Amino acid sequence: MKIIIHRGAQEIGGTCIQLSTATTTILLDLGLPLSAESKNLDVASFRPDAVLISHPHQDHFGLIDALDASVPVYIGELGKHLIDATRMLLGNKLHVNDFRYFKSWQHFSVGDFTITPYLADHSAADAYGFLIEAEGKRVFYSGDFRAHGRKSVLFDNIIKNPPRNIDLLFMEGTMLERSNDQFPTEKAVEQRIYETIKDQRNISFLISSSQNIDRIVSAYRSCKRAHKTLVIDIYTAWVLEQFKLVSDSVPNMEWEPVKIYASYSQNEKLKKHPDFFGDFRKHLYGYRIHKDEIQAKPENYLFLGKMSHFIIIDLYKTAKLVNVIYSQWLGYLSYSNNEYYGAEAIAAYRNDPQVNFVYAHTSGHATVTDLQTFAGALKPKMLVPVHTEYGDKYRDLFCNVKIVADNQILDL
Ligand SMILES: [Zn+2]
Repeated sequence: MKIIIHRGAQEIGGTCIQLSTATTTILLDLGLPLSAESKNLDVASFRPDAVLISHPHQDHFGLIDALDASVPVYIGELGKHLIDATRMLLGNKLHVNDFRYFKSWQHFSVGDFTITPYLADHSAADAYGFLIEAEGKRVFYSGDFRAHGRKSVLFDNIIKNPPRNIDLLFMEGTMLERSNDQFPTEKAVEQRIYETIKDQRNISFLISSSQNIDRIVSAYRSCKRAHKTLVIDIYTAWVLEQFKLVSDSVPNMEWEPVKIYASYSQNEKLKKHPDFFGDFRKHLYGYRIHKDEIQAKPENYLFLGKMSHFIIIDLYKTAKLVNVIYSQWLGYLSYSNNEYYGAEAIAAYRNDPQVNFVYAHTSGHATVTDLQTFAGALKPKMLVPVHTEYGDKYRDLFCNVKIVADNQILDL
């Protein structure tokens, strides 16, 4: 088997790894880089037999539009729906790729390759690692994963019953040189949200990805405990609808105490695409809340809406402090608006005297200790760092490490 990391050996995001046998070539992920200095990939020149997408984060799938549309793209079905949700609510066209759905722990074939997806705990839903077998070799690609989210049992299971005889493990290392100590688990995040809202005298805003389902559950549970109403935007409500495909224990707009704040622009997107959204638009009317209802008693609400919080935070800056609970990676706050939409406005809340800025976030990625447990269970003959800025540190932490540079050919 021949292997080339097109990108991702020495950076976080933008991962793309190519595996080839004599007759078949597959790509693992085809992501948009997170760093502006990252090199470009000439995706149109790639002619793989298939692309496997580990999970619906931009830095893992974001370049599939540049791919020849006839190339099959394998992904979890929920993950595909979540990608569509963002495209539609941002007003972008849906991808025209040839999507095929896989299911966790059910192997499938692409030419010489047999692939088994392993559902994983990550800040994106429907995230997978892959066991890839061909020509008598066994490769495991970790994707992005962690051991401290609401699906940590998936990590426990793979440690108890790991895939054996792994020749090569590609393992992410986002958290090398980053700490998760302040909020080691999602439960700790939930507790901070709860403490922030329970005695609030004005509205709270939660700034989080609407696709971080663990975080939405934390917000929902905090609201229940504190007797507050969780207000979500149309985008978040639509994201939650998608989870009905896989679970009946994820909150949605029909659950108490959830209400929808329908902004004009998001409502227009629904109107424009009745075939896509079906009766969702009609259905959500029963769960709407209006601005004047919120303004009458703002202390009753926690607002979560990634795409619309800017519209309304200013409305509530009064004599009573408004809580802005920042619930994603702090590093985004030093980004410019070009790198991360809204970063500058959010960063300014930190110094705004009318805002009580609260940080509450746990990483989507495994800590170094959990990475060591994972590598120790899989016992690969070779461990290659990917999705990390500190590949050179792997040798001090793990066994059988081989550092491979982008574009270097590796014969397995
Ligand atoms: Zn991810």
